Order: sequence, then C-alpha cells, then structure tokens
Amino acid sequence: MKIFKDIYEWKKFRNSLPGSLGVVMTMGALHDGHYSLVKRSKDENDYTLCTIFVNPTQFDRRDDLDNYPVTLDSDIAGLEKLETDFLLLPNFKQIYPDNYTYKVCESEFSKILCGASRKGHFDGVLTVVMKLLNIAGARRAYFGEKDYQQYHLIRKMAEALFIDTEIIGCDIVREKDNLAMSSRNMKLTENGRKLASFYANAIRCQSKSLDEIKSELENNAIKVDYLEERFGRRFAAVFINGVRLIDNFPLNKD
Ligand code: AMP
Repeated sequence: MKIFKDIYEWKKFRNSLPGSLGVVMTMGALHDGHYSLVKRSKDENDYTLCTIFVNPTQFDRRDDLDNYPVTLDSDIAGLEKLETDFLLLPNFKQIYPDNYTYKVCESEFSKILCGASRKGHFDGVLTVVMKLLNIAGARRAYFGEKDYQQYHLIRKMAEALFIDTEIIGCDIVREKDNLAMSSRNMKLTENGRKLASFYANAIRCQSKSLDEIKSELENNAIKVDYLEERFGRRFAAVFINGVRLIDNFPLNKD
C-alpha cells in the first residue's frame, strides 16, 4: 500500500493513474464496517484509496474530539491485509488552507435528527467530504448507511453541486448481538457494552411504541437523544457512559 501524507503529491500521482478509482473516507479506528466499504470498492474499481482524517470541524464538543480513538498502526495493518492500494493521511493545515472560512451547508435535512443536537456537525461533514471528493478524483465514493443521514446528505450534495463522483451507500455491518459496528464502541466500559447490546435490540422492536422504547432505555440509564421514524426508517441516537451511539434500520412494511 502506498501511503501519501501530502495531498498535492497524491493529486499529481492520481493524474497519472489509469483506470477507475474508488474512495473510502474514514476517521480511522477502523473496523469491519469500514473494511466492508474497502472490499466493495476493490470489487468495483481498478484501484482503491482510503483516507483517514479526524475532521475537527464536525465535532460540536471539544472533549468528544479529544477522546476520539486513534489506532493508526492497526488501521494500516488492516488496510494492508485487504491489499488496499493507497492511503491518504492529510493534516488539518492542508485540508483547511482557508481555516474553515469556506463551508458547504444544507438548510433542511441537515437540521433534523443528528443535526438538531449537534450544531454545525453536517456543515463540517459536507465541507470535508466536498474537499476530499475534489482531492481524491475518484469515479466512485463509498459511504455506510450506519450514518444514514450523512450518506443521504452527501448523495444530495453531489447531485446539487454536479459532482462527477458516484456516491454509493453500503449496508450496515453489525456485531453478532446486533450492535452496529462503530469506532466509538471501543470507548464503552464492560457494562456500557452490555447496555449497548440492550439498546441495539430494544430499538428494533416494532410492536412497542417509540415512547415505550424510550422509557425502557431511560430506565436502564441510557440517555436518549432521539428515537424517530422518518422516510420508512427508524433512527436512534443515545448516550451510554457519555459515548454517543447512532443506529437506523428500514421499518417492515406490514
Ligand atoms: P467514520 O470513520 O465513522 O467517519 O466512518 C467512515 C465510513 O465508514 C462512513 O461512510 C461510515 O458510514 C462507514 N461506517 C462506519 N461504521 C460502519 C458500519 N458499522 N457499517 C457500515 N459502514 C460503516
């Protein structure tokens, strides 16, 4: 795997690369959810680029950014094992030469669900994704439905701004007990991990009302940020030991 730290070196190299390129954008602390996107990209493209950049502008809380897990050595080992072609590790200065004075904003769908409680979160996400799409120069970009609102906003941004890269949504990868894989799961205590399992299964129950499920969660010391149904899907965000965990799934039609 060829590793690039300089975006201009990558861009120069990219211009001389023949064939199709797929890109997978991540914030590191990689797990099988991330690796499923890399595998899909490898299946559908001649080359695959993975990016790792913990994007500060999408964090609404400083402590959340400071505590975000970093596992670069094992990320590189995992990507090498999958025979990922390229890895880009840019720094803040290169990604934000404007010091974040230029932003990509969306004014409707970004204001609900995660956008309602994490002020400015999606401005940061859309801005960094726009930059990374321009830097990557890929034919296809892969995003997980684990972050469904994010995926939807990116797809619509690409349409609205005539971006050439095709935006592809990928299935959520879950642990055996149904908990959606997330870099944040490694921050859970042993008891927190048990509560996370309870949460992942409780929200899937479609015979109870959302209010019933919410009180069940709250009674188990799980703080509910939101539990809502929109566009035929159920969306949830909770705090367990201060760790924010999101999930979503399509509702059964019957
Ligand atoms: P992150 O590093 O959390 O920003 O995630 C990078 C990409 O991996 C995003 O497109 C996520 O939606 C995707 N991703 C994270 N967790 C999962 C998962 N459990 N299943 C599928 N995709 C995921």
